[in-house]
Amino acid sequence: MTLSSGQNYLAIPGPSVIPEVVLRSMHRAAPNIYEGELIETTESLIPDLNYVARSSGHVAIYIANGHGIWEAALSNMVSAGEHILVLATGRFAHGWAEMARKMGVKVDILDFGKNRALDIQALDKKLNSEVITKYKAILMTHVDTSTSVKNDIASVRKKLDEIECPALLAVDCIASLACDRFEMDDWGVDIMVAACQKGLMVPPGIGFVFFNNRAKERQKSLTNISSYWDWEPRVNPKLYYEYFCGTAPTHHIFGLRTALDMIKHEEIENTWKRHETLSRAIWAAIDSWSSVGEISLNVKNPSDRSHAVTSIRLGGENGTRLRQWLQTKSGLTIGIGLGMSDPEDPHGDGYVRFGHMGHINTQMIMALLGTVETGFRAIGYNHGNGALEAASEILSSI
Ligand SMILES: *Cc1c(COP(=O)(O)O)cnc(C)c1O
Repeated sequence: MTLSSGQNYLAIPGPSVIPEVVLRSMHRAAPNIYEGELIETTESLIPDLNYVARSSGHVAIYIANGHGIWEAALSNMVSAGEHILVLATGRFAHGWAEMARKMGVKVDILDFGKNRALDIQALDKKLNSEVITKYKAILMTHVDTSTSVKNDIASVRKKLDEIECPALLAVDCIASLACDRFEMDDWGVDIMVAACQKGLMVPPGIGFVFFNNRAKERQKSLTNISSYWDWEPRVNPKLYYEYFCGTAPTHHIFGLRTALDMIKHEEIENTWKRHETLSRAIWAAIDSWSSVGEISLNVKNPSDRSHAVTSIRLGGENGTRLRQWLQTKSGLTIGIGLGMSDPEDPHGDGYVRFGHMGHINTQMIMALLGTVETGFRAIGYNHGNGALEAASEILSSI
């Protein structure tokens, strides 16, 4: 039998749980796209997106998923034949690098593996071994959603300033925005990309390129930027249609308006704190499970861990077995082990990921952990005890 009827819980690292109020704000008739509420609502998003990103710069909005936003950012940052450096701590950095390569950009990669944050000394060594003006941009993920590694962005900026490297610093915050603390201005980020379907709690469909004046100036020297990707008209529209180079993503605008209101109401510092505390409960539970058997957190150092997604190693084919049981018997969907395959585990069957981004709270995380433990019992997976106690210890002492 199955007990999966009832409320489903999608605990994957994007798309995330969509709040009922966001869905309701999108459930309405098609609006006028030439005047009135839609235009005002679109304009109102810009300062609030900047509030979430701690930015005082520009925001271009595109009808695109994260991959589209990668291309949008690259199109405004670098030309074919120029060099960039990608700092990789998981699959998503490699994905951005591959996209750049297909656009004719020359890409060097510094790969830090799958279990830890980037190493500033290795970056220093790499940059010192090259002509300092070689790279037009340095690309990195804040959080890599495959490994759940989080990188220290401020330390990269500090290094670039120290050695007077003129490259733009471009950061992928698709997984982390509105989950992990991010300070666009203070950390000296020139370009940041995000999408609406993770911490921003809106169905997939729109994404954002945030950029500062330095990136804006640099963009002016590029040739061959397509009309569609060119960020300039989007941040400086003479006519409303220029915001989106065509028809606006009408219902996403209403959905995002509601989601941003929720974040403003909570206040971004509290949103980060909620994600951090819930993450600590998840880690404590996994630490308890890992006292016996094979289970372990993919990222050992807590300060290298994301507050939006957690990648977990179960070993064997236990990741896939657990996911399938949860999916068919319990109404809980957890994430596949993405980018974690190796010769001994070619399909990444030994890994799972918990997505804990956006619209999540104590009762959801305790349900996630309790249901996963139930799944362990069902598939006969060996683990230590005390996980729910360890999680509730943290969540009760706030
Ligand atoms: C989800 C994600 C992407 C890709 O977004 P899509 O909408 O699936 O194209 C890129 N980078 C990171 C860090 C992500 O989490």
